[in-house]
Amino acid sequence: MRISKMVRIGNIEIGGGNPITIQSMTNTDTKNVDETVEQINRLVQAGCEIVRVSLPDLESAKSVRQIKARTSVPLVGDIHFDYRIAIEAIENGIDKVRINPGNIGDSSKVLEIVKAARAHNVPIRVGANSGSLPKDLEHLPKAQALGEAALREVRLLETHGFDDIVISVKSSDALETIEANRYIARLVSYPLHVGVTEAGTLYNSLIKSSIALGTLIIEGLVDTMRISISGDPINEVIAAKKLLTFLHLRQGPDVVACPTCARAEFDVEKVALEVEEKLAKVGKKITVSVLGCVVNGIGEGKEADVGIAGTKGGVVVFYKGHIVGTYPYDEGIAKLEEYVNQLVK
Ligand code: SF4
Repeated sequence: MRISKMVRIGNIEIGGGNPITIQSMTNTDTKNVDETVEQINRLVQAGCEIVRVSLPDLESAKSVRQIKARTSVPLVGDIHFDYRIAIEAIENGIDKVRINPGNIGDSSKVLEIVKAARAHNVPIRVGANSGSLPKDLEHLPKAQALGEAALREVRLLETHGFDDIVISVKSSDALETIEANRYIARLVSYPLHVGVTEAGTLYNSLIKSSIALGTLIIEGLVDTMRISISGDPINEVIAAKKLLTFLHLRQGPDVVACPTCARAEFDVEKVALEVEEKLAKVGKKITVSVLGCVVNGIGEGKEADVGIAGTKGGVVVFYKGHIVGTYPYDEGIAKLEEYVNQLVK
């Protein structure tokens, strides 16, 4: 496993062997402090550990102070082109800035950001995105071009003696994301922020992100992650938590449910969704199995903490490996809920 350099973002450490942190990003107008704070708080409640906000102008950067006063999660400012926005954000309490030194302008402007970041112990995330690669790197294989482009940004900061750096190399292609991160991980020891950029709507993103992040997490290259999904950012956090749980890196619930077939004796999907909802905020390992019939239901039920399987005209309920009883459907669902509630306590 790669042990990266540790970087502190507010009260959170990333890299250096720390557990992988979950990030997401608000999609409110950052100048609208009430809406942004409300969304940040919802993200935190869902399990988000670092929140990024877009800072397209100076006014947005100024609102960082009010947002910080009403939230407790480390906040990252996403800044492009104008070094003054980065400085304003840093002076207003941002915990990390994400910039592209390449689009900030001449070296003296980058130096101004570096000075402010150093004075306030604010790390800088730099990197490269497949949509904005420098022209002179376009002849290289994409993954290598991404890695080299990110390295350039890193060197721009290092020439100013700055090494409080996080790197991201992003493509909207899952396999390119894997290759680019492997490439940069071989060259530098800074922590890696990993995600598939513009991964798309729910299905596309979940599949692409599971391929890319799943592989890179197993290889030990991910320090902090974002699953980017079009729409409500809460979904990003739910997906990230599930991915880490299914990779056994976090404690969390797992609802095992069958795909249903002609043998199904009850509405498996409905029950499974209700149980998932009930367990959404649980941070410990709980397995619940919901199977439409006893063909596999008995075995799965016995392995789960709580299980339910359809029988002729009813359901059989399991708790901690034992059959509790056979019930008419409604009574069985109520029993299942009762046991789930017991586990959640
Ligand atoms: S558990 Fe039963 S109902 Fe569900 S898919 Fe398997 S055979 Fe069909």
